[in-house]
Amino acid sequence: MRGGQQAMAITEKQVLDALAAVRDPDKGGDIVSLGMVSGIVVRDGNVGFAIEVEPARGPRLEPLRRAAEAAVEALPGVVSVTAVLTAEAPRRQSRAAPTPHAHARPEAAARPALAPGVKAIVAVASGKGGVGKSTVAANLALAAKANGLSVGVLDADIYGPSMPRMLGISGRPRSADGRILQPMENYGVRCMSIGFLVAEDTPMIWRGPMVMSALQQMLRDVAWGELDLMIVDMPPGTGDAQLTMAQQVALAGAVIVSTPQDIALIDARRGLAMFNKVNVPVLGIIENMSYFRCPHCGQRSDIFGHGGARREAARLGAEFLGEVPLDLAIRETSDAGRPIVATDPDSPYAETFRVIAARIWEKVSENGARRAPPRIVVE
Ligand code: ADP
Repeated sequence: MRGGQQAMAITEKQVLDALAAVRDPDKGGDIVSLGMVSGIVVRDGNVGFAIEVEPARGPRLEPLRRAAEAAVEALPGVVSVTAVLTAEAPRRQSRAAPTPHAHARPEAAARPALAPGVKAIVAVASGKGGVGKSTVAANLALAAKANGLSVGVLDADIYGPSMPRMLGISGRPRSADGRILQPMENYGVRCMSIGFLVAEDTPMIWRGPMVMSALQQMLRDVAWGELDLMIVDMPPGTGDAQLTMAQQVALAGAVIVSTPQDIALIDARRGLAMFNKVNVPVLGIIENMSYFRCPHCGQRSDIFGHGGARREAARLGAEFLGEVPLDLAIRETSDAGRPIVATDPDSPYAETFRVIAARIWEKVSENGARRAPPRIVVE
C-alpha cells in the first residue's frame, strides 16, 4: 500500500488526524484536542511538528513523543517523522483569531522569557549565505568578550551550523539531569549549536516552525546562566523561519552583515524590512569582504566596488557599523577555529571588531538591553 500511495502528498490534516489517536497519559484527552500540537511541517514526505508540554512534565513524556512519531509514521507516504517536545508555560487564553490552523499555530500568549539570565540577545543576520555572517558573529562575540562582557553564542543557523568549527569546539554537551544541557565553551565564550547535537551527515529536514522549536530548546534547555550578551548566528535569508525567530525571541536588536555587491544589498534590504516588521531594532549594517588587502604588498583594492553598504545604510536610515576587509588571515583563522579576534588581538582587524562590538553594546544599552519579557501578544 505504502509504495502505491507514495506520490500522494501528505496533508497537515492527515497528520492531525493521526495524532488525534495519541493520548496524553496525564490528561486523558488526545494531544490534538488538548491543543498540544503545533508547527506541523510537511515536506516531501518528511513530517515535523512540536508537542507543547508544561516544563515539569517534559522529562517524563519521551514515550508520548515516540508514540506521536509512530502514529504519523504509519501514514502511507511518510518518509520520516521528527517530533520535538517543547516545554511551554501553562497556556493562557489564546486570543488568536480562529483560522483553519488555529490549533496548530505556535501559541501567541504570554510565555516565560527564554534564557532569562541573558541581558541582551542580538541577532547577526544576512540576506543570503556566504557573506561571512558566521565569521562576523564569532569575531563579534569574542570582541565583546575582550571588551569585558560575558558572552554566549547561539548558533541558530541550523541549515549549516558553523560555530563548532569557527570557535574550535568539538564533542557533545553534557547534561547532569538528562534535560538541561551545559553550553560548550572556548575562548571564554559559551556556545550552543545544533552542530553539537546532530551528526554532520544527518539530513536536516527541519523547516519553518521546526527551526523555531530547535531554537527554543537551545535557549530554554541550556544552562546559559548569567550573560551580558548573547549573539545569535541566524540562518541566512529572510524567510518564515527567520521571521518567526525574530518574532519570538526577545531580541534587543539585529545586525545585518552584507558584502558590497549590490545583489547582497538587495538581500540586506529585505533583512532590514523583516526586522522592522517585527519591531526589532536594526542596530546597523556591517560590510564584510569590504575591500581586499594584499598580504604581500599591503595595498588595498576595492575589488567589489567598496562602499555600497555604507551608502545603502545611509539611504535606509540604518547605522553603518563598520567594514571588515577580505583577508586571507580572516578566512584561515575562522575556518580553523582560531578567530582572529582571539588569536591575533593586536591585529587591526581585531580592533575593528572590538570597536563594532562596543558600538553594538552601547546601542543595546541605550535601548534598555533586553526588551521586556514578551507581553501578551494579540494576533
Ligand atoms: P555565512 O555565515 O554568511 O554563510 P561564513 O562566515 O561561513 O559565511 O563565511 C563564508 C566563507 O568566507 C568562510 O570560508 C569564511 O572563512 C570566509 N570569510 C568570511 N569573512 C571573510 C573575510 N572578511 N575575509 C576572508 N574570508 C572571509
